[in-house]
Amino acid sequence: MEPPQKAHLVPPLKQSPAGIEGRVNDAARLAALRDLGLLESGAPAALDRLSNLAARLLRVPIALVTLVGERDMIMLGQSGLDGELAARRELPLNRTFCSHAVAMRRTLVIPDTRREPLVRDNPSIEEHGVVAYAGVPLLLEDGEAAGALCAIDHDPREWTAEELAILDDLAATATEILNGRAALIHRGLHDRLTGLPNGELLVASCEGFIQDLGKGENVAVLCAGLDHFDVINQAFGSEKADRVLRAVSRRLVAAVRDTDVFGRLRGDVFAMVAPGIEDESEALTLAARVHRVLSDAPLDVDGEQLSVAATLGIAIGGGESNGADLVSDAANAMREAKRHQGRVRVAERGRAENAAAHLRMREALHVATRRDEIKAVFQPIVALESHRLAGYEALARWDSATIGPVPPDEFIPLAELTFDIIEIGELMIDRAAALAADLYGHLGEEVRVTLNASPVQLDRPGFAASVRAAFESYGLSGRSVGIEITEGTLLESGALERANLAELREFGVRVLLDDFGTGYSSFGYLRDFQIDTIKIDRSFVDRMLDDRHSAALIQAILAMARGMDMEVVAEGIETEEQAKLLRLLGCRYGQGFGLGRPVDARQALADGMASGFTS
Ligand code: C2E
Ligand code: MG
Ligand code: MG
Repeated sequence: MEPPQKAHLVPPLKQSPAGIEGRVNDAARLAALRDLGLLESGAPAALDRLSNLAARLLRVPIALVTLVGERDMIMLGQSGLDGELAARRELPLNRTFCSHAVAMRRTLVIPDTRREPLVRDNPSIEEHGVVAYAGVPLLLEDGEAAGALCAIDHDPREWTAEELAILDDLAATATEILNGRAALIHRGLHDRLTGLPNGELLVASCEGFIQDLGKGENVAVLCAGLDHFDVINQAFGSEKADRVLRAVSRRLVAAVRDTDVFGRLRGDVFAMVAPGIEDESEALTLAARVHRVLSDAPLDVDGEQLSVAATLGIAIGGGESNGADLVSDAANAMREAKRHQGRVRVAERGRAENAAAHLRMREALHVATRRDEIKAVFQPIVALESHRLAGYEALARWDSATIGPVPPDEFIPLAELTFDIIEIGELMIDRAAALAADLYGHLGEEVRVTLNASPVQLDRPGFAASVRAAFESYGLSGRSVGIEITEGTLLESGALERANLAELREFGVRVLLDDFGTGYSSFGYLRDFQIDTIKIDRSFVDRMLDDRHSAALIQAILAMARGMDMEVVAEGIETEEQAKLLRLLGCRYGQGFGLGRPVDARQALADGMASGFTS
């Protein structure tokens, strides 16, 4: 017998190196499948009946309604299978044909699989007698293909136009059934107010991600609680407050990557589950993005402009973690952040183990200043045009005799809790003054050394006086001092903080706003608070070369700063390209590993003498 002609409907596709898995697993499709929620929920019986109908109408031994998952194809409906396969209802993708219809998103017609290069190595030809195949993809509303409805024959055959039209109709029916089913599932797992996934679905998604983690990958859960939502609720009433929540949810959806799941946990708390996270800094970048989309522009609620901000908690876990724990850890971290007036807080890993470690660190920190374990290092702030030094930022370092070196992002928040920050702060003030005095002694001019001030310090009467006393005792004026505060500190500040800042300013101290862009970032308040210098957070500098949005934001910050007569320092400059672009944009000062790492006081003095300073 003449072999039937080669199927003309198969486009000349080569198998990609990643195989069929690589071709069907794009993020958008998998997200659509997850939204459908059918992967875990079992198949509606109607799909078996639909398969029977397809088999009868086309007179084929086998017909299937399939869902093509990440690694396996699931047979939601089947007719003509028996034995183990009928019970198992699953096949690895490389043994399937429907996966090709899904990858192409169009009808796949193969008169003889043994002669079709695309599939002729498929083991199912032998194992299950799949010799002729016709499959129509089940296209969801967003154009993604979930699976296929297919007819299979054990002998070669030409599929007629009439038969393909029947398959088309049945496939459309199968899609309708799936969508109806999805809508039902959707209702139980979604929040009525916003239509977003609810807590149950967020936890389930987190579990799903944890199971699929690659090596070295983590899942991050971000909880975002709106600030002062109780005030909004009281001022506007609950109906309008609901509209605020909806507007916020629309805004936050924009910060989510395609692979993330974003939902509402409860009340004014939203959560985002992000897979494939390498480390904490990547999660913090996501957090910065959430802060930014909220503060980019005020919300429009019934024609009224409303500024909102959120406080974030983050929990990160690897393959052994548990979805429910991660979500609740993130929510607790968020509450902690609110309590300490921070913008974001990362939950400590592995709680039981950490409670002990935390206590140990607390005790070690308490004796650290007395044991001389806290040191000050100084990172140069550089004029980008001339490459000359413009000053130094004092940064605390702790190398504990019992637990080794601990980064400031860990011990400073702890020291704020225990008030050890007061003692550490005094030590830093003294070291900064000593360096400024040395530089003055050798260069004959005052050089500014900036200090990071925690809200705990600023909230004490006498803080400004103690800074002034320390610098004056070395014969220095306020020109030798800068005080860095964060946006959170500024906005939550009370009368005492403001009085301290005013007193410092009177002494000639410059006030720098640290990590600008990660908090509220509302330009309006900069003037009210008389900020002298803005330090653009390093997350923007990090992304500015490959993300136009970051570059545009930096430009906007620079333009605004010029208009308000403020200086700008860009943080975290690591490469010459970054320095160059910043210079081009008109940024005068920079700081970063690419310009100079933090060094001890002796080195800072030597570098300062070698380079000289510019004002
Ligand atoms: P910060 O005030 O924003 O300080 C800048 C941080 O960025 C420093 O981290 C610095 O080492 C790091 N950095 C500088 N250039 C680069 C770069 O090019 N790439 C990268 N990846 N990082 C860069 P460090 O020393 O770990 O301090 C972290 C934070 O801890 C500081 O952020 C500050 O908020 C706080 N901190 C440090 N020392 C003190 C202190 O004496 N008192 C208070 N209250 N907070 C402090
Ligand atoms: Mg700083
Ligand atoms: Mg900073």
